[in-house]
Amino acid sequence: MGFVVGALFGSFANVIIYRLPRGESIVFPGSHCFHCKKPVPWHDNIPLFAWFFLGGKCRNCKAPYSGRYVLVEWIMAFLFAAVVCRDGLSWSVLEHLIFVFGLVTASFIDFDHMILPDEFTLSGIVIGLVGAALNPDRPFLPALFGVLVGGGFLWAIAAIYAAVRKQEGMGGGDIKLLGWIGAVLGWTSVPFVVISSSLVGSLVGLIIMAQKRKGLSQAIPFGPYLAFGAILYLFFGQDISEAYIRLFIPAL
Ligand SMILES: [Zn+2]
Repeated sequence: MGFVVGALFGSFANVIIYRLPRGESIVFPGSHCFHCKKPVPWHDNIPLFAWFFLGGKCRNCKAPYSGRYVLVEWIMAFLFAAVVCRDGLSWSVLEHLIFVFGLVTASFIDFDHMILPDEFTLSGIVIGLVGAALNPDRPFLPALFGVLVGGGFLWAIAAIYAAVRKQEGMGGGDIKLLGWIGAVLGWTSVPFVVISSSLVGSLVGLIIMAQKRKGLSQAIPFGPYLAFGAILYLFFGQDISEAYIRLFIPAL
Protein backbone atom coordinates (compact mmCIF):
# COMPACT_ATOMS: atom_id res chain seq x y z
CA MET A 1 0.00 0.00 0.00
CA GLY A 2 2.70 2.46 1.05
CA PHE A 3 4.74 1.20 -1.90
CA VAL A 4 2.06 2.03 -4.50
CA VAL A 5 1.28 5.42 -2.97
CA GLY A 6 5.02 6.13 -2.82
CA ALA A 7 5.42 5.29 -6.53
CA LEU A 8 2.63 7.73 -7.43
CA PHE A 9 4.19 10.45 -5.27
CA GLY A 10 7.55 9.65 -6.85
CA SER A 11 6.00 10.33 -10.24
CA PHE A 12 4.60 13.62 -8.90
CA ALA A 13 8.03 14.46 -7.44
CA ASN A 14 9.56 14.13 -10.91
CA VAL A 15 7.14 16.77 -12.22
CA ILE A 16 8.07 19.13 -9.36
CA ILE A 17 11.82 18.49 -9.74
CA TYR A 18 11.63 19.37 -13.43
CA ARG A 19 9.13 22.24 -13.41
CA LEU A 20 9.46 24.12 -10.10
CA PRO A 21 12.98 25.50 -10.68
CA ARG A 22 11.91 26.53 -14.21
CA GLY A 23 8.94 28.45 -12.88
CA GLU A 24 6.48 26.24 -14.79
CA SER A 25 3.06 25.19 -13.52
CA ILE A 26 3.06 21.92 -11.57
CA VAL A 27 -0.45 20.87 -12.67
CA PHE A 28 -0.77 22.05 -16.27
CA PRO A 29 -0.09 20.92 -18.95
CA GLY A 30 0.02 17.13 -18.44
CA SER A 31 3.14 15.10 -19.08
CA HIS A 32 4.64 15.59 -22.50
CA CYS A 33 7.87 14.51 -24.19
CA PHE A 34 10.45 17.20 -23.51
CA HIS A 35 11.86 16.62 -27.01
CA CYS A 36 8.93 16.22 -29.46
CA LYS A 37 6.37 17.87 -27.09
CA LYS A 38 3.86 15.08 -27.78
CA PRO A 39 1.64 14.30 -24.75
CA VAL A 40 2.61 11.07 -23.01
CA PRO A 41 -0.36 8.61 -22.92
CA TRP A 42 -1.25 7.24 -19.46
CA HIS A 43 0.02 3.73 -20.24
CA ASP A 44 3.47 5.16 -21.07
CA ASN A 45 3.42 7.09 -17.78
CA ILE A 46 2.90 4.19 -15.34
CA PRO A 47 5.33 4.70 -12.44
CA LEU A 48 8.13 2.18 -11.77
CA PHE A 49 7.63 0.18 -15.00
CA ALA A 50 6.78 2.27 -18.10
CA TRP A 51 10.39 3.41 -18.49
CA PHE A 52 11.54 -0.23 -18.78
CA PHE A 53 8.77 -1.18 -21.26
CA LEU A 54 9.71 1.77 -23.46
CA GLY A 55 13.41 0.91 -23.28
CA GLY A 56 14.04 4.35 -21.78
CA LYS A 57 12.93 6.13 -24.97
CA CYS A 58 10.02 8.27 -26.16
CA ARG A 59 7.55 6.06 -28.06
CA ASN A 60 7.09 8.77 -30.69
CA CYS A 61 10.49 10.38 -31.34
CA LYS A 62 12.81 7.84 -29.62
CA ALA A 63 14.50 10.61 -27.61
CA PRO A 64 16.22 8.94 -24.63
CA TYR A 65 14.61 9.49 -21.20
CA SER A 66 16.92 9.66 -18.22
CA GLY A 67 16.73 6.62 -15.96
CA ARG A 68 16.64 9.05 -13.05
CA TYR A 69 12.88 9.53 -13.34
CA VAL A 70 12.28 5.87 -12.65
CA LEU A 71 14.97 5.90 -9.94
CA VAL A 72 13.10 8.65 -8.06
CA GLU A 73 9.89 6.60 -8.27
CA TRP A 74 11.57 3.48 -6.85
CA ILE A 75 13.28 5.44 -4.06
CA MET A 76 9.99 7.07 -3.07
CA ALA A 77 8.10 3.75 -3.23
CA PHE A 78 10.60 2.01 -0.94
CA LEU A 79 10.80 4.90 1.53
CA PHE A 80 6.99 5.28 1.76
CA ALA A 81 6.63 1.52 2.31
CA ALA A 82 9.32 1.60 5.01
CA VAL A 83 7.70 4.57 6.81
CA VAL A 84 4.26 2.93 6.77
CA CYS A 85 5.72 -0.35 8.08
CA ARG A 86 7.48 1.48 10.89
CA ASP A 87 4.89 4.01 12.03
CA GLY A 88 1.61 2.24 11.34
CA LEU A 89 -1.50 4.42 11.48
CA SER A 90 -0.47 7.48 13.48
CA TRP A 91 0.24 11.19 13.35
CA SER A 92 3.89 10.31 12.88
CA VAL A 93 3.25 8.37 9.66
CA LEU A 94 1.71 11.46 8.06
CA GLU A 95 4.55 13.68 9.28
CA HIS A 96 7.25 11.28 8.12
CA LEU A 97 5.68 10.74 4.67
CA ILE A 98 5.58 14.51 4.08
CA PHE A 99 9.17 14.73 5.41
CA VAL A 100 10.52 11.96 3.17
CA PHE A 101 8.68 13.27 0.09
CA GLY A 102 10.05 16.78 0.66
CA LEU A 103 13.62 15.61 1.35
CA VAL A 104 13.89 13.45 -1.77
CA THR A 105 12.29 16.05 -4.04
CA ALA A 106 14.40 18.92 -2.69
CA SER A 107 17.58 16.80 -2.93
CA PHE A 108 17.16 16.17 -6.64
CA ILE A 109 16.43 19.87 -7.26
CA ASP A 110 19.67 20.60 -5.37
CA PHE A 111 21.56 18.08 -7.54
CA ASP A 112 20.30 19.75 -10.71
CA HIS A 113 20.34 23.45 -9.82
CA MET A 114 22.39 23.84 -6.62
CA ILE A 115 19.39 25.39 -4.87
CA LEU A 116 17.12 24.25 -2.06
CA PRO A 117 13.87 26.15 -2.68
CA ASP A 118 12.22 27.88 0.28
CA GLU A 119 9.01 26.15 -0.83
CA PHE A 120 10.54 23.07 0.78
CA THR A 121 12.85 24.26 3.54
CA LEU A 122 10.83 27.12 5.06
CA SER A 123 7.53 25.31 4.56
CA GLY A 124 9.20 22.25 6.07
CA ILE A 125 10.15 24.17 9.22
CA VAL A 126 6.58 25.51 9.59
CA ILE A 127 4.96 22.12 8.89
CA GLY A 128 7.46 20.45 11.25
CA LEU A 129 6.61 22.83 14.11
CA VAL A 130 2.86 22.61 13.51
CA GLY A 131 3.24 18.82 13.38
CA ALA A 132 5.05 18.79 16.73
CA ALA A 133 2.26 20.90 18.25
CA LEU A 134 -0.45 18.52 16.96
CA ASN A 135 1.30 15.14 17.26
CA PRO A 136 0.70 13.59 20.71
CA ASP A 137 3.70 11.26 20.15
CA ARG A 138 6.31 14.01 20.21
CA PRO A 139 6.74 17.15 22.33
CA PHE A 140 6.97 20.64 20.90
CA LEU A 141 10.05 22.06 22.65
CA PRO A 142 12.61 19.58 21.22
CA ALA A 143 11.27 20.44 17.75
CA LEU A 144 11.66 24.17 18.36
CA PHE A 145 15.19 23.58 19.72
CA GLY A 146 15.79 21.43 16.64
CA VAL A 147 15.18 24.42 14.36
CA LEU A 148 17.45 26.64 16.46
CA VAL A 149 20.25 24.07 16.98
CA GLY A 150 20.17 22.77 13.40
CA GLY A 151 19.89 26.13 11.68
CA GLY A 152 22.16 27.88 14.21
CA PHE A 153 24.94 25.30 13.90
CA LEU A 154 25.23 25.56 10.12
CA TRP A 155 24.78 29.32 10.27
CA ALA A 156 27.80 29.53 12.60
CA ILE A 157 29.86 27.24 10.33
CA ALA A 158 28.95 29.39 7.33
CA ALA A 159 29.87 32.59 9.19
CA ILE A 160 33.27 31.18 10.24
CA TYR A 161 33.98 29.84 6.75
CA ALA A 162 33.06 33.17 5.18
CA ALA A 163 35.33 35.02 7.62
CA VAL A 164 38.32 32.71 7.06
CA ARG A 165 38.07 32.04 3.32
CA LYS A 166 36.50 35.39 2.36
CA GLN A 167 33.99 33.56 0.21
CA GLU A 168 30.63 31.92 0.69
CA GLY A 169 30.88 28.18 1.20
CA MET A 170 27.59 27.00 2.57
CA GLY A 171 24.33 28.21 1.10
CA GLY A 172 21.43 29.57 3.14
CA GLY A 173 19.40 26.65 1.78
CA ASP A 174 21.50 24.15 3.76
CA ILE A 175 20.99 26.17 6.96
CA LYS A 176 17.22 26.14 6.49
CA LEU A 177 17.31 22.47 5.54
CA LEU A 178 18.99 21.43 8.80
CA GLY A 179 16.50 23.65 10.67
CA TRP A 180 13.70 21.71 8.97
CA ILE A 181 15.33 18.36 9.86
CA GLY A 182 15.61 19.52 13.49
CA ALA A 183 11.94 20.53 13.51
CA VAL A 184 10.83 17.05 12.47
CA LEU A 185 13.42 14.81 14.19
CA GLY A 186 14.17 16.95 17.25
CA TRP A 187 17.40 18.67 18.30
CA THR A 188 19.01 15.40 19.47
CA SER A 189 19.13 14.24 15.84
CA VAL A 190 21.31 17.16 14.73
CA PRO A 191 24.77 15.76 15.75
CA PHE A 192 24.00 12.42 14.10
CA VAL A 193 22.74 14.05 10.90
CA VAL A 194 25.72 16.42 10.68
CA ILE A 195 28.32 13.68 11.30
CA SER A 196 26.79 11.05 9.01
CA SER A 197 26.17 13.52 6.17
CA SER A 198 29.72 14.88 6.45
CA LEU A 199 31.20 11.37 6.37
CA VAL A 200 29.14 10.31 3.34
CA GLY A 201 29.72 13.67 1.66
CA SER A 202 33.51 13.47 2.16
CA LEU A 203 33.59 9.91 0.87
CA VAL A 204 31.61 10.73 -2.26
CA GLY A 205 33.61 13.94 -2.74
CA LEU A 206 36.90 12.00 -2.61
CA ILE A 207 35.62 9.48 -5.15
CA ILE A 208 34.47 12.24 -7.51
CA MET A 209 37.76 14.12 -7.12
CA ALA A 210 39.80 10.95 -7.73
CA GLN A 211 37.86 10.31 -10.93
CA LYS A 212 37.62 13.82 -12.30
CA ARG A 213 40.64 15.42 -10.59
CA LYS A 214 38.61 18.49 -9.78
CA GLY A 215 39.79 21.06 -7.27
CA LEU A 216 38.62 21.15 -3.66
CA SER A 217 36.73 24.36 -4.25
CA GLN A 218 34.49 22.62 -6.77
CA ALA A 219 31.00 23.23 -5.44
CA ILE A 220 29.15 20.04 -4.54
CA PRO A 221 25.61 20.41 -3.19
CA PHE A 222 25.49 19.43 0.48
CA GLY A 223 21.69 19.26 0.73
CA PRO A 224 21.35 15.68 -0.55
CA TYR A 225 23.82 14.45 2.10
CA LEU A 226 21.94 16.21 4.89
CA ALA A 227 18.73 14.63 3.56
CA PHE A 228 20.45 11.23 3.45
CA GLY A 229 21.66 11.64 7.05
CA ALA A 230 18.14 12.63 8.13
CA ILE A 231 16.56 9.57 6.50
CA LEU A 232 19.27 7.38 8.04
CA TYR A 233 18.41 8.81 11.46
CA LEU A 234 14.69 8.41 10.87
CA PHE A 235 15.06 4.65 10.39
CA PHE A 236 18.19 3.70 12.35
CA GLY A 237 19.17 6.71 14.42
CA GLN A 238 17.79 5.49 17.71
CA ASP A 239 19.33 2.02 17.30
CA ILE A 240 22.73 3.43 16.34
CA SER A 241 22.65 5.94 19.20
CA GLU A 242 21.76 3.19 21.69
CA ALA A 243 24.43 0.84 20.33
CA TYR A 244 26.95 3.65 20.67
CA ILE A 245 25.99 4.27 24.30
CA ARG A 246 26.14 0.53 25.04
CA LEU A 247 29.66 0.45 23.64
CA PHE A 248 30.78 2.69 26.48
CA ILE A 249 28.31 1.67 29.16
CA PRO A 250 27.75 -2.08 28.55
CA ALA A 251 25.62 -2.44 31.70
CA LEU A 252 22.74 -0.53 30.06
ZN1 LIG B 1 9.28 12.47 -27.97
